[in-house]
Amino acid sequence: MGTAASSFLNPIAAELDGVGIRPTAQALMRRAKQRRQIQGMIGASYVVDAAVLMLYAYAGTIPLMIGPAFAACGLTLTACSITLSELGFNERFKDHYLVAPQSTTNMMIMLVFTWIAPEVGVMFLCTLFVVFSFSSLRSTPRQTMMIWTAMALGLSGLFLLTDKPIAMPHGSYLERVATMLVFILTIGRCMFVGMFSSSMKQSLYQSGQKLKEAYKRIEELAELDELTGSFNRRCIMRMLDEEIARAGRSASPCSIALIDLDWFKRINDGYGHPTGDEVLRTFAITMFANIRGVDRFGRYGGEEFLLVLPDMAADNAIRALDRLRAIIADLDWSAFSPGMKVTISAGVATLRPNETPDSFLARADSALYAAKARGRNRIASA
Ligand code: GH3
Ligand code: MG
Ligand code: MG
Repeated sequence: MGTAASSFLNPIAAELDGVGIRPTAQALMRRAKQRRQIQGMIGASYVVDAAVLMLYAYAGTIPLMIGPAFAACGLTLTACSITLSELGFNERFKDHYLVAPQSTTNMMIMLVFTWIAPEVGVMFLCTLFVVFSFSSLRSTPRQTMMIWTAMALGLSGLFLLTDKPIAMPHGSYLERVATMLVFILTIGRCMFVGMFSSSMKQSLYQSGQKLKEAYKRIEELAELDELTGSFNRRCIMRMLDEEIARAGRSASPCSIALIDLDWFKRINDGYGHPTGDEVLRTFAITMFANIRGVDRFGRYGGEEFLLVLPDMAADNAIRALDRLRAIIADLDWSAFSPGMKVTISAGVATLRPNETPDSFLARADSALYAAKARGRNRIASA
């Protein structure tokens, strides 16, 4: 199935194109190309049917001019459609393929030719059927109902208001061959419609997957701090709320640590802000590498971070933090600049019954203040 077919049947892409976002020049060119391809297919279809009509004419069923007239009608319609499309007319509409007006016009041609050449009516009516099924694939249910009503009225007029001998020629051998071709072509077109609808299902599925992935990425971006890759403040605060609620439900302990880099202003002043950023990043990566999977680590602000330690009582939390403190202090920071030292201080608090997040954080914050006051590179507990 070509790109024309798959994009024709890619309603999600089409809808996204149509929702507020102005399509890019590239998208417009791609859409114009898809319309040219579709019109090419319609034009070719008219030519093939005209050839079958010539066969009927050769068999003496219809006058010779019917085939060329049918081809001329179809190709004129196709040329008009391509011209409008190239002039950008189609882009004014939500459905830039203009499926409803196009299929209605094509079906009108079939009805008119059934009236002009009822002796081979079967052929036009078969094509009418295919055009309708094809158009219903991309039309809204309301459009489909309207097109069906218009066609029902046209067919009623043709069958009930005229006495045209609408026929399926099968008298001579050549007529049988031509009629056989009509059915083979019709079934082939039905097959094409079927392939289109399965490619539509597939591309819908793929678009759905892509949207899901994009949505997941957006969610991730909205939750992460750009510089350090740790959770951002909003997210880590939400996680703290969740952990407090969970600890309350399960009566399990929960500890937190507010961690602050020592003398960080001096690092910035001494080595430059970009190096300060690298230090923050390295600190965050080291933390991630040394905490448990259930622990939550996020940037509380500036060079201050919040570590949430579910199911961890006070003594274990202090031990864990002291281990982290030692890991940071022992890291070889000289890669950033010879002689560079980075240390952290942390205030640890363990949840009390019915405590609010604010008071929990305030206790960790005063413990951090105490750790700083006692000389930094140390852990204090609330
Ligand atoms: P203390 O040991 O008392 O915490 O001293 P300090 O210098 O770390 O404390 P202070 O709060 O005075 O300075 C924090 C510095 O952190 C100031 C600010 O410029 C810097 N900072 C905050 N966010 C960033 C950041 O994203 N990148 C860099 N490079 N620096 C930052
Ligand atoms: Mg600091
Ligand atoms: Mg600070």
